[in-house]
Amino acid sequence: MPRPISATIDSSALRHNYLLAKRLAGEARCWAVVKANAYGHGLLRAAQAWGDLADGFALLDLDEAIRLREAGIRQPVLLLEGFFEPADIDVVLAHDLSCVVHSEEQIAMLRAARPTRPASLLVKVNTGMNRLGLRPAHLPAALEALTFLPPGSRIGLMTHFADADGARGVAGQAQVFADAVRQMRWQGPVSLANSAALLFHGDTRADWVRPGIMLYGGSPAPQARSAADIGLKPAMTLKANIIAVQDVAPGERVGYGGLFQAERPMRIGVVACGYADGYPRHAPTGTPLALDLPGGRTRTRLLGRVSMDMLCVDLTEVPVAGTGTPVVLWGEGLPADEVATAAGTISYELFCALAARVPVREA
Ligand SMILES: *Cc1c(COP(=O)(O)O)cnc(C)c1O
Repeated sequence: MPRPISATIDSSALRHNYLLAKRLAGEARCWAVVKANAYGHGLLRAAQAWGDLADGFALLDLDEAIRLREAGIRQPVLLLEGFFEPADIDVVLAHDLSCVVHSEEQIAMLRAARPTRPASLLVKVNTGMNRLGLRPAHLPAALEALTFLPPGSRIGLMTHFADADGARGVAGQAQVFADAVRQMRWQGPVSLANSAALLFHGDTRADWVRPGIMLYGGSPAPQARSAADIGLKPAMTLKANIIAVQDVAPGERVGYGGLFQAERPMRIGVVACGYADGYPRHAPTGTPLALDLPGGRTRTRLLGRVSMDMLCVDLTEVPVAGTGTPVVLWGEGLPADEVATAAGTISYELFCALAARVPVREA
């Protein structure tokens, strides 16, 4: 028998979440962001779950974009960081991929390549995040430098918000963008919103939205609004079985470093999941887990330090649980956002960290 751990990806939840994003997007079209192997859910699995529902797909890696094309995906596919070297340009155009252009260097590479096929570009504006993008003052020259592109080429403008999920919000950056667009009398398409902007700042929808995390059932701001509140369904459920039980006496310690010390007699379950499976090592004692019992799910808590291949849970109050009992690490019945918050991270990181050694099933 293989090690009793698996992740289940629920394609009906993926579809439900995409349709919710589409409803919020109104008239705007919706790139499904599938970077990082669809946030750990499997690139082709996610793309196929959405199939013709999706208006387009956005990711980072040229090879992954080509895999989508080779799998028969005909919708627009956007490279969120564009190309990295001149040799990529031909490949991008040959596969009819759309491309973010965020730097003068990329524009210079394009000019030098003198493409003969039409290109589809989204010029990225740095409106204050100071990660990728051209300053508004450099935009007119950049757009002028792209006028050599062959007929049929399409150009849009985009930006990315640094704090759509936080207290600063989007107003400052949206203003910088609006000013730039107005000064240039820009008429072409515009894309601004990630999940948080789509959910919390509906006026940023523009022509294309770019939700990622919400499609997988994570809230971009779980403290402000939980995924369930938003109406999202978890797409990934990580489960593993209890493989051993220990009875410990008061004063005895559990796991590496003896981090947890029992104050009373306790029953401890050892679960076949550790940080090498993608569970966060920094999750402290008290992080929630759910026991999958015949009568339903029961919450319990993590005890002590997470090991590479195992972690320990409290079974003291749950005598029916024992070796063989399935434990939900996150997903159905236990929002990844709750686990992430307890571990001081975000659901994005949990999903992306799902290790290759964990077998994935589809539901
Ligand atoms: C990752 C990413 C998104 C999606 O962000 P979420 O917070 O997951 O919705 C959108 N746009 C860009 C440029 C990104 O890199």
